Amino acid sequence: MIPFAGSPLNRASEKRTDPAWIEAKRRDPSSLVLPLWRLEPFVLGGEKTPPPLRLGLLRPEVVDAIPGASGPCILLGLDGNTALFAQDVVTAGNPAEVEPLAGLGHFRDARTAAQIVSIKDAAIIGQAKAMIDWHQRHGFCPRCGSPTKLMDAGYRRLCDQCNSEHFPRVDPVVIMLATHGDACLVGRGKIFPPGMFSALAGFMEPGETIEEAVRREVFEEAGVKVTDVTYHATQPWPFPSSLMIGCFARAQSRQLKVDENELAEARWLERGLALELIEGKKTDGIHLPPPIAIAHHLIKAWALAGS
Ligand SMILES: [Zn+2]
Repeated sequence: MIPFAGSPLNRASEKRTDPAWIEAKRRDPSSLVLPLWRLEPFVLGGEKTPPPLRLGLLRPEVVDAIPGASGPCILLGLDGNTALFAQDVVTAGNPAEVEPLAGLGHFRDARTAAQIVSIKDAAIIGQAKAMIDWHQRHGFCPRCGSPTKLMDAGYRRLCDQCNSEHFPRVDPVVIMLATHGDACLVGRGKIFPPGMFSALAGFMEPGETIEEAVRREVFEEAGVKVTDVTYHATQPWPFPSSLMIGCFARAQSRQLKVDENELAEARWLERGLALELIEGKKTDGIHLPPPIAIAHHLIKAWALAGS
């Protein structure tokens, strides 16, 4: 399973337009609420507690006692009959250091948190983080500049002034492994640590298909023409709201012409070495992305397919 995918929740979208039901569930003592502070989810235990840690899903009365627990509240969905919410905590000081959270757990950046909780909890973190993040950035109407208000348990914002509606956005990104014979193409972004290589990636543009975006990005970044684009898997990536669309593509040659504005370097990686790097058996001064990234799964699937 790819991290941030595979949420165990029933999103219960038919309930979002029933404010009385939402309000009752938000107060229901059997409901659970995940507080986020500065977009960091609450996890139980200390910062040095060895994983796996449990997600900080708390009773509504506990969350309501947190100073600053008055930001956007989102219905995440239903786990059986239990409603789960995400609550933005808006306060300058760290609310984990004061009552009622003191000693219970800590706020952890979403990327790290997703790697120390269960795969199901990671999916809940992804949904909660992306949704709260969207609300924080969409308080004003892009059409007329007036304040917007939260509707539908968090899945819509409405401008009272011009009546325009705004919906949580998902930005598609193509991420692709171009292959040629027994090698795959990996690149090192300018901000990557030394030796870190990954699959090439880029935002899709309006008016493009997935296949067209893959062909354009590989050619722009590495000067390589690719054909036979195939889909492998997708990953919700809540930084802030991407959907990573993982693909394979066949390169027409190994000749590289790297765009230095996009990449520090690019190289072909032989299958045997890729497999050893993925399995952590070898380094050769090269690092591939960890399992939280879909690039890891693309490289692994390709390497294993030919081994
Ligand atoms: Zn407006």
